[in-house]
Amino acid sequence: MTDGTAKTELLGLPQGELERYFADLGEKPFRARQLMQWIYQRGVRDFDEMTDLSKALREKLKQTASIASPDIISRHDSSDGTVKWLFESGFGQAVETVFIPESTRGTLCISSQVGCALDCAFCATGAQGFNRNLSAAEIISQVCHAVAELPRRPNGEPAVSNVVFMGMGEPLANYRAVVPVLELLISDWAFGLSRRRVTVSTSGIVPNMDKLGDECNVSLAVSLHAPNDPLRDRIVPINKMHPIDELLDACWRYAGKHSNRFITFEYVMLKGVNDSRDHADELFRLLDGNPAKLNLIPFNPFPGTEFECSSAETIRRFQGRLRDRGLVVTTRKTRGDDIDAACGQLAGKVSDRVKVKLREKGVATA
Ligand code: SAH
Ligand code: SF4
Repeated sequence: MTDGTAKTELLGLPQGELERYFADLGEKPFRARQLMQWIYQRGVRDFDEMTDLSKALREKLKQTASIASPDIISRHDSSDGTVKWLFESGFGQAVETVFIPESTRGTLCISSQVGCALDCAFCATGAQGFNRNLSAAEIISQVCHAVAELPRRPNGEPAVSNVVFMGMGEPLANYRAVVPVLELLISDWAFGLSRRRVTVSTSGIVPNMDKLGDECNVSLAVSLHAPNDPLRDRIVPINKMHPIDELLDACWRYAGKHSNRFITFEYVMLKGVNDSRDHADELFRLLDGNPAKLNLIPFNPFPGTEFECSSAETIRRFQGRLRDRGLVVTTRKTRGDDIDAACGQLAGKVSDRVKVKLREKGVATA
């Protein structure tokens, strides 16, 4: 504001809050919808270009509000069509956003935190430690930026048809910023994506899975990675707080809140660690008869890791053993390898900061 008060950041505000903002300016609620269309559907950030708002309102907005734009460090294009952007996130840190084009869809993989405190043993982001939560504006601006840069599909549809929270960070440890972003992704005044095409991936912050199920009916992916507690305690340490039984109960509750909804379980294939016949059988017993799909992820190595990826033959057999008994199992194709855009490799090379462990400090309640 001209009197020195900080301007209100409008990017990332959900519709209800934007309506309250306009009400404070003495404006009608539909102004919020107009503004959302300008920002998210037309990619306009300059209030002067918002021609269906009165000149007086545009002046008021210029004085009291701002619409942030992200600082892009770099863009890399992979030979397989995958695109990776690096966004500046302060103090020499960066987060990454990856676009993966496929014949029938285009998936944008976004980050929710700078680093991650949950410290999964096989994850480059975990090895980097936790730096901070991203704001809703910083998260949604990854989508705005990708949509603005990517050409439409040949059939005229937007390049981004799906959004997954599978970049850096644990989205349910940054719940308060993630929910407004989810609202904008599915809002008809913003990105208008179907709820089924927006996926939150979590390593299992159970209380926030329940909250999410009540507040925002999007798709859920759960990083299981091990079929028993001793192994999962070791490779996904949040398991010590929310063990497998508790996690799976929360999954079935989530699925039960929304008809026809399956939970996707992610399972990273680690050679000699979680990839035996016995592991497959244990996994089958956990998931059989429940609304579950399984997605096997070939482990993506990064410098300093103790793990190796299971062989293609082991993955094929593991998949076959479960599929033969009726489980829906897919194996993820690794994309963007040549630009380090594959799962768990994100921003692994940006910084060698000292690890900061915040697990004990209430990450689950953020
Ligand atoms: N924190 C969330 C979302 C981000 S990680 C979660 O853990 O679900 C997205 C997916 O990538 C998770 O399933 C995660 O376990 C997986 N992943 C992490 N490191 C990986 C690696 N090195 N290779 C393959 N997948 C990895
Ligand atoms: Fe965090 Fe997910 Fe990596 Fe685990 S796998 S350290 S929860 S980003």
